[in-house]
Amino acid sequence: MTNAAEIELASVSKHYGSNVAVDQISLKIKAGSYACLLGPSGCGKSTTLRMIAGHEAISDGDVVLARKVVNDLPPAKRGTAMMFQSYALFPHLDLVDNVAFSLKMKGVEKAKRRSEAMEMLTRMELEAFADRRPDQLSGGQQQRVALARALITQPQALLLDEPLSALDPFLKIRMRAELKRLQASLGMTFVHVTHSQEEAMALADQIVVMSDGKIEQAASPRQIFQKPATPFVARFMGNHNVLSGRLVQEDAIGVTIETPGGRFKGVGRHHGDPDCADIAIRTDHVRFVDAVADSLGFSGVVTNVEDLGATVKVSVQGADIDTFTIVLRDADFFARPVKTGEAVHLSWAEEDTVVLGHPNAS
Ligand code: ADP
Ligand code: MG
Repeated sequence: MTNAAEIELASVSKHYGSNVAVDQISLKIKAGSYACLLGPSGCGKSTTLRMIAGHEAISDGDVVLARKVVNDLPPAKRGTAMMFQSYALFPHLDLVDNVAFSLKMKGVEKAKRRSEAMEMLTRMELEAFADRRPDQLSGGQQQRVALARALITQPQALLLDEPLSALDPFLKIRMRAELKRLQASLGMTFVHVTHSQEEAMALADQIVVMSDGKIEQAASPRQIFQKPATPFVARFMGNHNVLSGRLVQEDAIGVTIETPGGRFKGVGRHHGDPDCADIAIRTDHVRFVDAVADSLGFSGVVTNVEDLGATVKVSVQGADIDTFTIVLRDADFFARPVKTGEAVHLSWAEEDTVVLGHPNAS
């Protein structure tokens, strides 16, 4: 349908007065890939997206689309289209006119713009609703209209700001699959902002985890999940426990850190300040055992048990760690159940640990 654009941010910043919303981020998004900007509220995701779209002036750095610096181009000249969280549909126009709106702005004559809009509505399986107004549609259908309206400009990249947040959980998962299918069939670059780890994992070729205006890690979902780069990513993705201490030993395989509650091993190299050494341990690879292995486990007390169906989540306090999370498959848990208040020994394998770093430290 159209060429996909590579997107590059080169040390891009956004300041609002003395507030730094986006702090010198550098990033490459491959042409035709699906990227998710992921992070908690206020971390700078929407600001980054709006700077790519041209709805927000950048304070410093370069936005490069299809190898062209576009810092000074208005949104309509960038080859990008944006889909907003609220969809921003025109309530008094029918679907055809909603979808055809940007063509009208470009001066495309009526018959042509209406036939193009009909074609796009058909592609979105909305042709039967063409003469309805937005309020006569379900949330999922409204979302497809918003998509049709963005896509009719034949952008090289589609920018989506929390496109699924207005939908109920069931529809959210269905529309998520539709978005991914659409992106694959168009071969277009998609940049999708979300605060949901699950959504980013499900959709992205590349996840860009942001915190406090900075990029913590940009990598494939697998990489982010298995090898979080920083304590923030490990905690935010939720599938690792983070232990912090002081580096006391380092060899070819990994490190040993000393924490207030004991020594622990981690696989990988430590960079930076030896007094700030962090390791992460997969929550789903920890086992209850009879005796703790040296530097690969500890003894504690169960503080909470949550049966989540397919898995059971157990919280343990010990070794000066407030909450250490263990996620067991239900069969494994019920083969050896534990209850709140019970004393337990925990153990894990060295390969289920990873040494963490800090953003901007290489
Ligand atoms: P996110 O989309 O990740 O929730 P935003 O990009 O909207 O975060 O905001 C990042 C930071 O910039 C926040 O601290 C927010 O308060 C601030 N911010 C966003 N827009 C403006 C604005 N127009 N004026 C001043 N501060 C803003
Ligand atoms: Mg936002």
